[in-house]
Amino acid sequence: MKKINEIFHSLQGEGFHTGTAAVFVRFSGCNLSCPFCDTNHSSGKMMSDDDIVSEIVRIRHGATLIILTGGEPSLFVDDILLEKIHAIESGIVIAIETNGTHPLPEGIDFVTLSPKDQFVENVEVVLAKCSELKLVYPGSDPSRYCHIVCEHRFLQPCDSGSPQINRANMAATVAYIKEHPQWRMSLQTHKILNID
Ligand code: SF4
Repeated sequence: MKKINEIFHSLQGEGFHTGTAAVFVRFSGCNLSCPFCDTNHSSGKMMSDDDIVSEIVRIRHGATLIILTGGEPSLFVDDILLEKIHAIESGIVIAIETNGTHPLPEGIDFVTLSPKDQFVENVEVVLAKCSELKLVYPGSDPSRYCHIVCEHRFLQPCDSGSPQINRANMAATVAYIKEHPQWRMSLQTHKILNID
């Protein structure tokens, strides 16, 4: 059984898969306590692997991108669940959004690494490669992750809740990327467009 916060069908708002229809499986629980975390780690419903897959099938409307998120999904995802999700149909792509502090099982097709080691003490990122590396900027130093092997590097302007500060964060992100073109901007389009 796995503790699931929610399973929902929407568009991925950030990073490489921006705009793609997906089913999100949000696991409850994390090994970190980031000061800005907005996830309720205590709430959730215990579900079997078969329950999770049935819910994905029920709501996906043909979406082939299944995003495992959290919390920290790598603490809970195992080979059996991955096999069952892949068995839904041959084109299924399983993506995971992870803080990188816990090894991943085999069978994940796309890894989004969002390290939090600059915000929480005594945290070690153990993943050395990923599909996309995504950092909130400013507030983190992108140069700390030069050694990570990845296909895409994204900086996401920090959403402070204040329009004035957000404008400054956007300007800082643009300025950094102009000087470091290996990075691209990722916008939280679901927030900007108010997509559920
Ligand atoms: S790693 Fe993510 S889910 Fe975990 S505490 Fe930090 S922000 Fe929250």
